[in-house]
Amino acid sequence: MLTSLSGWGANKWVDCALAEPETPEQVSEWLNPAGTIARGLGRSYGDAAVNGGGQVIGMARLNRFLAFDARTGRLTCEAGVSLEDIIRCFAPRGWFPAITPGTKFVTVGGCIANDVHGKAHHVQGSFSNSVESISVLLASGEIVAASRDANAELFWGSMGGMGLLGIVLNATLRLRRVETTYFRQQAIAARNLEQLLDVLDEHDRTYTYSVATLDIVARGPHLGRGIVTLGEHARRDELPRRLASNPLRIGGPPRVSVPFTLPEQTLNALSIRALNAVIQQIQRRTGDYGHYEGFMYPLDGVAHWNRGYGRRGFTQYQFLIPFDAGVPRMREILSALLSEGELPFLNVLKRLGEQSAGLLSFPRPGYTFAIDLPIRPHTPDLLRRLDAMVLDAGGRIYLGKDSFVEPATFRAMYPELERWLALKAALDPNGTFTSDLGRRVGLVSRGREAREPS
Ligand SMILES: Cc1cc2nc3c(=O)[nH]c(=O)nc-3n(C[C@H](O)[C@H](O)[C@H](O)COP(=O)(O)OP(=O)(O)OC[C@H]3O[C@@H](n4cnc5c(N)ncnc54)[C@H](O)[C@@H]3O)c2cc1C
Repeated sequence: MLTSLSGWGANKWVDCALAEPETPEQVSEWLNPAGTIARGLGRSYGDAAVNGGGQVIGMARLNRFLAFDARTGRLTCEAGVSLEDIIRCFAPRGWFPAITPGTKFVTVGGCIANDVHGKAHHVQGSFSNSVESISVLLASGEIVAASRDANAELFWGSMGGMGLLGIVLNATLRLRRVETTYFRQQAIAARNLEQLLDVLDEHDRTYTYSVATLDIVARGPHLGRGIVTLGEHARRDELPRRLASNPLRIGGPPRVSVPFTLPEQTLNALSIRALNAVIQQIQRRTGDYGHYEGFMYPLDGVAHWNRGYGRRGFTQYQFLIPFDAGVPRMREILSALLSEGELPFLNVLKRLGEQSAGLLSFPRPGYTFAIDLPIRPHTPDLLRRLDAMVLDAGGRIYLGKDSFVEPATFRAMYPELERWLALKAALDPNGTFTSDLGRRVGLVSRGREAREPS
């Protein structure tokens, strides 16, 4: 049966044959060699986890914990386990996912395929830093264990590999020891972009978690005015009394839900303000000490918030430019982006640290900015212009968020692409693993070998 699927941005829906296996054996048996892609919880914004006219293997039912070592925090689990599952089970015992993106509703397989990063990338690196080994079902039907020492090329090709080398069936991760599920947090206001980046630069050396949000109505000399939020895992002995009685408290389900796709006009007038208010309320609740729900995952408090963008959906534009591109470049790109008169709901600016060895991993040293944009007729043109500016600054865009980048631009942004394509051609010569994104950006072409690099 065909199911209509999209990414989180809900900007393009395609019919796919969705299979939802419950065991690794079923994944192998049901895999369609004519073309398939794994899907986690569908939190990638674009077309990474859809395969129009072909098969999609939903992995969310493969969500069993397989082994845990309470001395080291080493966890082996199926790839459909979500970070929410991990927190629910292990946070009360003092363990937290070592690296997490801005939502906990993502699977381990999805985090590997995008080599996701969080607010602590400058200190902790990307998700692959917390992964010891993976077990991958290849197009040949073989299941191969890969780690830094064994089948290292498959390991690093899978980190950021968008699910296109094979299906990760299970993974061994290292969790982080925590005394509490709270963060000591501090907010610093900045008057303009230069000051904001200075604050990030300075405090990245003193805080593990840091992120900035821009006031997007500020323009001209005030462009980049915003708030930098800094945080550190709170120790048990520093928690205020009202929190200390339950230092490892975990959150409940989302408190609010957007029940159906809202009409577009609602977006500007109502939903942005309503969603913002809920998020700010959640963040404010504990003053200097913030619960992980508000500090790490403010958007998770509102279920289906993506429906607030209306029928045409939205995209998230996330780019990075290297530090040496300089502040004027960042200012130029932000000006071009914000000059379109949109009223985007969400934006995040952050410093990224060392690159992982993931061949297609997005993070590398530099500043990254992400912003939600409702889809308008001019959006593809706008993003094409921005892509050119980002490329010219030596930067790149993030496939986990992208819906529009063109193959030549993508190719020029990822220098390890040729190595990855050679691996793809060796492991999956017939293009069994394929997705709308893979075909769009030239990571795979159906029925033939992956495109030879030019
Ligand atoms: C509110 C929000 C905040 C976010 N914040 C961040 C952030 O701070 N940093 C960041 O890096 N990202 C962020 N993201 C993006 C998100 O973390 C990634 O897109 C993540 O990959 C989604 O995981 P998923 O399980 O939903 O995977 P899906 O979106 O379903 O799939 C993503 C990719 O993973 C592949 N995949 C899934 N499972 C497997 C498997 N078992 N084996 C092989 N491949 C597989 C798919 O084929 C696809 O290519 C955010 C997304 C949202 C909605």
